[in-house]
Amino acid sequence: MEFWFTEKPTPNWGMTYRVQQVLRRRQTAYQDLAVVETVEFGRALILDGIVQLTEKDEFVYHEMIVHVPMCAHPDPRRVLVVGGGDGGAVREILRHPAVEEICLVDIDGEVIEAAREFFPRVSSGLDDPRVHIVIEDASRYLWRDEVQGRYDVILVDSPDPVGPAIALFQEDFYRAVYRALAPDGLFSAQSECPFLMPDFIRSVQESAARVFPIVKLYIYSNVTYPGGMWAFTTGSKRYDPACPQEGRRPAGPTRYWTPEVHRAAFVLPPFVQELAPRQHALPGTCAGTVDRV
Ligand code: SAM
Repeated sequence: MEFWFTEKPTPNWGMTYRVQQVLRRRQTAYQDLAVVETVEFGRALILDGIVQLTEKDEFVYHEMIVHVPMCAHPDPRRVLVVGGGDGGAVREILRHPAVEEICLVDIDGEVIEAAREFFPRVSSGLDDPRVHIVIEDASRYLWRDEVQGRYDVILVDSPDPVGPAIALFQEDFYRAVYRALAPDGLFSAQSECPFLMPDFIRSVQESAARVFPIVKLYIYSNVTYPGGMWAFTTGSKRYDPACPQEGRRPAGPTRYWTPEVHRAAFVLPPFVQELAPRQHALPGTCAGTVDRV
């Protein structure tokens, strides 16, 4: 007998995976958590029926959420990951050897436990002594006094806007991100699929633009997030996120991010440009800080 799992991005369309084994299925305090072994994509982490990562293509998302802001900043030392309990973003941040401190704030400790148990290659960095894990709603954590102005880079590695993650896409949350960033800090945030959620992306861009002087959208493609093309919102106080700083790159080989892919990811097809009206950098115009663009 065959067993298939179907994620339904709309009531009328599904992405379906042949599953060999269900390794974990639990209702946590916040979400329905499942880890399954698929035939095509290796292990998959599924929250509330939505695939968060698969072993086969997680590198795309994690390289692009991390290396774009980390390489747009000349010397990021303190980094905050919002969500990201699987550890994939932390693994990629640790490829920047000058980093001194990584704080990961996930609301659900059971995601971290499942990542440690079932995704050792993804969660491999969580035990690094520079990593500090906080189990808390990040929309509250970011308003703590001690985090004001603390971080060079913030990554919002969130699920789709459902349940407690809805707060992570709102203007008040971008105000908290702004407050927690150093005077030249920048953030990037998971921002859904331009084909499936154009109005949502436009409103996220508008909310972030009411807070940050520089707001841009960049795109990537993978297999397991439905819709093919997906986007990140990025907001910055000073540096142009579209421009990798001269000589900045992660240690070791990458499989998706390169300085060229970094710049090209900000070149948007017209139907996506409409969702990000403040986009202004083009390939070849990168010149370091936005003051000089
Ligand atoms: N890469 C994934 C994607 O694009 O679907 C996101 C993966 S990561 C597992 C998302 C994490 O965000 C989950 O572990 C979830 O518990 C966490 N999360 C959701 N809402 C949160 C909140 N308000 N504060 C902190 N973490 C939150």
